[in-house]
Amino acid sequence: MKAKIKKNKKPAKVVIKKPIKKEKMKKNEEQKTVSDKNKKTWTALRGMHDILPKEEKYWKNMYNVSSKLAEYMQFARIETPILEEASLFIRSIGKTTDVVEKEMYVFDDSDGGKICLRPEATASVVRAYVSDGLWNNPQPVKVWYWGPMFRHDRPQAGRYRQFTQVGFENIGVLDPAADAELIMIAFNFYKDLKLPVEIHINSIGTPEERERYKNELLNYYRTKKSYLCEECRKRMQKNPLRLLDCKEEQCQGVKEEAPQIVDWLSENSKNYFMKVLEYLDELGVPYILRPSLVRGLDYYTHTVFEVYPISGEGAAQSALGGGGRYDLLVEELGGKSTPAAGMALGIDRSVIYMKEFYQQNQLRVEKEPYDIFFAQLGDRAKGRAMKILDDLRESNIKIAFNLYKNSLKTQLDIANELKVPYSLILGQKEVQEGTIIIRDMESGIQEIVDQKKIETALKKKLKKFDDTNK
Ligand code: AMP
Repeated sequence: MKAKIKKNKKPAKVVIKKPIKKEKMKKNEEQKTVSDKNKKTWTALRGMHDILPKEEKYWKNMYNVSSKLAEYMQFARIETPILEEASLFIRSIGKTTDVVEKEMYVFDDSDGGKICLRPEATASVVRAYVSDGLWNNPQPVKVWYWGPMFRHDRPQAGRYRQFTQVGFENIGVLDPAADAELIMIAFNFYKDLKLPVEIHINSIGTPEERERYKNELLNYYRTKKSYLCEECRKRMQKNPLRLLDCKEEQCQGVKEEAPQIVDWLSENSKNYFMKVLEYLDELGVPYILRPSLVRGLDYYTHTVFEVYPISGEGAAQSALGGGGRYDLLVEELGGKSTPAAGMALGIDRSVIYMKEFYQQNQLRVEKEPYDIFFAQLGDRAKGRAMKILDDLRESNIKIAFNLYKNSLKTQLDIANELKVPYSLILGQKEVQEGTIIIRDMESGIQEIVDQKKIETALKKKLKKFDDTNK
């Protein structure tokens, strides 16, 4: 039953307001200024940033490309909590890494333990693989995620304290094809976004090979100690492989002459790496062999890689993503010995690169155009228009509308701006008659159709439904 609202016929009481006394007005004014002074406004925390509506097109695009790639390559979605036990990351990423030493957001939980905001998600996914019994499923387990990560880093362009990563993990096979598959996904992610990238790649072998190499590296660096920056001297004590990550000008010469890890790999490790490269050649993925690439986290073995923009400037020059093999991590986190590999791409940085590259190359992020504009006139038409909009929700017709504008001219101006081929017009008369007007925006010719037949009538007119009409 339709609810009827009775109209109040009684004339409204006329209230005569007393004039506000001068002193009272003064007091009001004073109050206003005091409260304005006390007004506090908030900005996002340092290193955190809002993603505003105007950015949505980039983020949506990247999400859609990721989920399409995941589906095609048969990676299932996984979501792990943002909070984890702090020890999970200390154990997996490594005590002496920058992430664990300086960048983790660690809190005391009210019931005891130390918890933290995840700085990355590979450790969380492996934790889930062990604790949720994913190792019981057919192997490998291929999963992907998309979500926020937190690192209390020094904020600068392209470096935030909260940032988003999309990641792909393949747990349960030791096969160079799995490594190449991940690199191919990273490469295709940017290819689908029309962004040129190149892959930097290296192999850091097994822990034993790495240990032997570390000794050799230290022997070499000891002879060059006087040329090194402060940080590198510390690295010699704590994490010698990170010596190869140094960006300081004064250390570059020493770094270039340093022994290379490939020379310390066993035949097996070399063959494995060669096979990965062969697959990349076959796939046509461009890569650069970079002997100094070691990645910042402790858990990597064999293949490591990073993705770089080809033509970026400033913030858009840093790595967009990276990954590699981590054959020891599942066991390290309490599971059975299980080979695995994965990669993560930074979305914030990719968006910076995309904006810059698109602007330089006059590319546009294509938005799906609207098919029609729905204009309504008058109160009753507004309600009916909302109902028709709701009924057409599943029709696949993309409808633009503005329920808060009452003038037909203003609404048709919007329709013209949006370049829709047709508009629907619903006025009081049409509401009464159960009809609606379809206006051809180019010729101005208008046709009246039954409201029940809107969907069929529109689909007949719209080119995008041509196939379904045949
Ligand atoms: P990582 O595993 O540390 O190499 O991170 C992979 C990718 O995540 C990087 O290449 C960046 O694109 C992104 N990323 C890492 N840290 C940050 C950060 N602090 N701010 C923005 N993006 C980041």
